[in-house]
Amino acid sequence: MDFIAETIADLSPSLTLSITSQAKQMREDGIDVCGLAAGEPDFDTPQHIKNAAIDALQDGETKYTAVAGLKALRMGLAKKLKEENQINYEPDEIVVNCGAKHSCFNAIMACCDAGDEVIIPSPYWTSYPEMVNAVGAKPVFAETKQENNWKITAEEFDNAMTGSTKMIIINSPNNPTGAVYTREELAAIGEVAASEDILILSDEIYEKLVYGESKHVSMASISDEIRRLTITINGFSKAYSMTGWRLGYTAAIKEIADAIDTIQSHSTSNPTTFAQFGAIAALTSDQSEIDDMVEEYNIRRQYVLGRLNTIANISTIEPEGAFYFLINIEKTGIKSVNFSEKLLSRMQVATIPGVAFGNDQTIRISYATSLPIIKEGLDRLEEFCRAH
Ligand code: PMP
Ligand code: GLU
Repeated sequence: MDFIAETIADLSPSLTLSITSQAKQMREDGIDVCGLAAGEPDFDTPQHIKNAAIDALQDGETKYTAVAGLKALRMGLAKKLKEENQINYEPDEIVVNCGAKHSCFNAIMACCDAGDEVIIPSPYWTSYPEMVNAVGAKPVFAETKQENNWKITAEEFDNAMTGSTKMIIINSPNNPTGAVYTREELAAIGEVAASEDILILSDEIYEKLVYGESKHVSMASISDEIRRLTITINGFSKAYSMTGWRLGYTAAIKEIADAIDTIQSHSTSNPTTFAQFGAIAALTSDQSEIDDMVEEYNIRRQYVLGRLNTIANISTIEPEGAFYFLINIEKTGIKSVNFSEKLLSRMQVATIPGVAFGNDQTIRISYATSLPIIKEGLDRLEEFCRAH
């Protein structure tokens, strides 16, 4: 007898998480690893956020809350979405989940049946296809081009559509490419979606991490029609360095929010209660620590860009957001898994092979680590590329 369900048997574990923990283990074992793999801020969670959760624990906030999260938190999120993202959501159109990964999963489960197609611009964040597969729906990859900054165009979206398309996933700022979509680009994609009533899962987890002249625009802010089709996903992990707290959220029309609430009521119930108090503090307090983090990321981003542009046999685009570079290694003639494995075993530099993001001619590095580690990692990458 097959113990494992057919939809689950072929899923692969998350490569981003497994390589990151492999690199952590090597470091604990005393190996001098430069970890450029982790998609996780290296800053600590701000102290006032920790204090709010500690106070909540001391005050006995240790019981269930509403499945969708504390009303005060959802009211804070509605205010945030209105003021920062120019989208009007009522608190009962918002569901707080156990991390934005959970938010994406719930949204896909709530909306996609077996046989539905979900268009995923490639390169993509590693978990999207497996979430779609896990509910029996079908991921349809739309290849994007490096010369278009790896962004899907409205025309490419249109070409990927079939009678079975239910949803498209747009992630801006993007993991792994760092691309940020402009308002015009989002509007053009939104219009194509609206013409066929296709849902848009808009993953905006990196919204705060944008650099230079780039601005983050929320898909649902573009028009009422696009808002009706959009499921806005965001969370606390990246903006507030709260990856371990597991707090994300979904905002969508009530019909979809209610379906997500129902799924969550039978799976995780509410996200951890005292963590939600930390999230309220994150939303309502001074946001200047975010500016400091962004400034530091930007210094690293510019340093990495300068270095990568001088290394033989590789190329990249200038990422305008998130904290990643997707590096094109095609000229080396080595495929991504082989490249990353050799880089780790010979030079002790941890990176993520692009195959995890649907592109075997790239590797991803993260600059969510200190400048000295980045510098040493790039010295080693340069030496490796010189020999290949
Ligand atoms: N979306 C993207 C694009 C991500 O890179 C991540 C990374 N963790 C997530 C969602 C999920 O974040 P979390 O579950 O930590 O909120
Ligand atoms: N999203 C981060 C990454 O891409 C963290 C790991 C994960 O959740 O996949 O590396």
